[in-house]
Amino acid sequence: MKNIAVIGSGTMGNGIAHVFAQHGYKVSLIDISEEALKKGVTAIEKNLGRQVEKGTITEEVRTTALGNLTTTTFIKEGVANAQLVIEAATENSDLKLKIFKEIDESTLPEAILATNTSSISITKIASVTKSPDKVIGMHFMNPVPIMKLVEVIRGYSTSDEVTKTIMDLSRALNKVPVEVNDYPGFIANRILMPMINEAIYSLYEGVAGVEEIDTVMKLGMAHPMGPLQLADFIGLDVCLSILNVLHDGFGNPKYAPCPLLVNMVQAGHKGVKTGSGFYKYTAGSKDLVLADRFRKSS
Ligand code: NAD
Repeated sequence: MKNIAVIGSGTMGNGIAHVFAQHGYKVSLIDISEEALKKGVTAIEKNLGRQVEKGTITEEVRTTALGNLTTTTFIKEGVANAQLVIEAATENSDLKLKIFKEIDESTLPEAILATNTSSISITKIASVTKSPDKVIGMHFMNPVPIMKLVEVIRGYSTSDEVTKTIMDLSRALNKVPVEVNDYPGFIANRILMPMINEAIYSLYEGVAGVEEIDTVMKLGMAHPMGPLQLADFIGLDVCLSILNVLHDGFGNPKYAPCPLLVNMVQAGHKGVKTGSGFYKYTAGSKDLVLADRFRKSS
């Protein structure tokens, strides 16, 4: 496998393209606008530069990685020679079904079609393609160049051969793959999101404040980041949409999103990406400052 296409050059797509290009694969990065592609490539340049500064890669690897990257706004053109396509576009079921129909008609017949979805059913995505046995979940974690895990999700019809190829490929990228089956939230988000939701419920019910909840989980459970800060980092809209998938998929009220989370998303306070969530974020500052709403008056 030499040629990879990555659809979506946002947070995850540019990270996935970065890692493949760094490991010698030719990567075609696809997005809907030149502006989005430019943003993605700038992030890759910055992150590769940071790795060189830290001494984790050489200048030569950086130059080769950038030379391995091409960009396009046309899916047909971008996926034409790919042996593996990884879709990392916005988390929206209808959008992903539309993209998979298009790539199914445009790729090599032997190409593997993977999705980086956080929660949408792999089996449902595969159902719009001619070869559901070649569709698989390849769920990288954020930030992709740093996080070791790849959750490899087998849809109902994914073949053993395709699963083995993706497990081996993940190891070739110096990642640790874990194979899981296709049920709502897979493993990562089925366990993580109820914890985040419970942290938000604890805040909503006045059990403790934002900093107190995060401190308990950081110092008490040795989590590197508290659940509320992590929710801001993931995006509160993303957390809400995953909780809705869990709630709809299992029909169990224990997954119902906390009304405070729903309110915050509706008010546009979506975490780091909008500058405010449980904490507020100023470009260039690494200080963790509580959002005004959650400051104590005393
Ligand atoms: P993002 O909003 O940062 O990027 C999405 C990109 O997709 C944007 O650049 C957008 O322009 C592009 N896009 C939208 N429609 C497109 C189309 N038709 N063709 C090509 N590109 C299109 O989102 P993200 O956080 O990178 O998430 C991408 C996927 O990865 C989602 O499925 C998400 O659930 C999943 N994911 C996200 C995280 C995370 O922490 N952010 C972690 C793991 C998985």
